[in-house]
Amino acid sequence: MPSWRTLPAAQQPEYPDQEALARVVTELESFPPLVFAGECDQLRARLGAVARGEAFLLQGGDCAESFDGVGADDIRAKVKTLLQMGAVLTYAASVPVVKVGRIAGQYSKPRSKPTETRDGVTLPTYRGDSVNGFDFTEAARVPDPERLKRMYHASASTLNLVRAFTTGGYADLRQVHAWNQDFVKSSPSGQRYEKLAREIDNAMSFMRACGAEPEEFRTVEFYASHEALLLDYETALTRTDSRTGHLYDVSGHMVWIGERTRQMDGAHIEFASKVRNPIGIKLGPTTTPEEALEYIERLDPEREPGRLTFIVRMGADKIRDRLPTLVEKVTASGAQPVWVTDPMHGNTFEAASGHKTRRFDDVLDEVKGFFEVHKELGTHPGGIHVELTGDDVTECVGGGDEIFVDDLHQRYETACDPRLNRSQSLDLAFLVAEMYRG
Ligand code: PEP
Ligand code: MN
Repeated sequence: MPSWRTLPAAQQPEYPDQEALARVVTELESFPPLVFAGECDQLRARLGAVARGEAFLLQGGDCAESFDGVGADDIRAKVKTLLQMGAVLTYAASVPVVKVGRIAGQYSKPRSKPTETRDGVTLPTYRGDSVNGFDFTEAARVPDPERLKRMYHASASTLNLVRAFTTGGYADLRQVHAWNQDFVKSSPSGQRYEKLAREIDNAMSFMRACGAEPEEFRTVEFYASHEALLLDYETALTRTDSRTGHLYDVSGHMVWIGERTRQMDGAHIEFASKVRNPIGIKLGPTTTPEEALEYIERLDPEREPGRLTFIVRMGADKIRDRLPTLVEKVTASGAQPVWVTDPMHGNTFEAASGHKTRRFDDVLDEVKGFFEVHKELGTHPGGIHVELTGDDVTECVGGGDEIFVDDLHQRYETACDPRLNRSQSLDLAFLVAEMYRG
């Protein structure tokens, strides 16, 4: 029995039929791994470089993936957006950008309320496609363990296509650069970045003239990550690696523990402490330095750079106030976690129309605050963690091609939190690039 079983596990579905769950778990245990443990080690090494200040992490994707979203167009658009952001950031930061999708496993959502009421009808909340259905009907909202198998298969087909795109030629740097040039030319917000795009173009022409044709131009290292929320699923996909004898959660390369499940004595921290994957942990505004130090003790007792990533999500109005002490005390302890900003989850509000949204300016301001704090302390602002999509949705307000509150209803498609659309994501990448350069 895994050690987390005896501990309280927050945010787990209450399945009406425990035997059905047990049958599904047994089946999942027989399924092949989705990732190879060696790849998890490689990502840990890449993140080690981020921790030392020699690389930058770009982590992004949907708040919640959906089974319906497992199609070529959706996946291609997300990967394309991340690659475009990655190219801009690589040039500006002049260090490798480690690209990690919130993809191929991000099907489970923690919720602040167990139920949802509409027009006087109260039903269990939607907890992600891995648990129950999005439709507001009694039948859809019953947790169904069969969905865990669909999550596995959805993750497998997504990952397969992501691997094909990133190693099969689609992600060629010259192609990605051409997409960025197109964004700069054709969108009103893009024009601001003409100078940076021209510099990148000159660098590419220079390399071409030198006859440089590195393999790195043709293929991209891309990793998959998700919140390790449903412990039955994650445990069924935790396997002993034959090379090293260690346990790995082979449902994704990196997994993280969310703000709602990071209880020190809870099951999620215990689970994460047993696997060798790189682990992320979301740190909200109430996190104390003592807690941060205890997470290091629990999850990274060897102080191995790349093992632990602190994903800070404080809110634009709190980051400058709360982050400095955390970074100071952690640094003073000799630990070297990766520090990443999630500028989305501390900045959510409900618009008058009832849509959950975020202001692009708040997102940007939290990133700025994050960079300021690290600059002040002489530590490394290791990366960004964002919710985005490659489509032209209208879920967050603001941005260069401005979305107004009154536009939100036009293309509001998220199954959970509001995402940056394609143009807002690229906008953010160019702005972070400018910040990085000083
Ligand atoms: C999320 O990443 O979608 C999420 C729910 O974040 P947090 O755990 O930080 O609230
Ligand atoms: Mn979210």
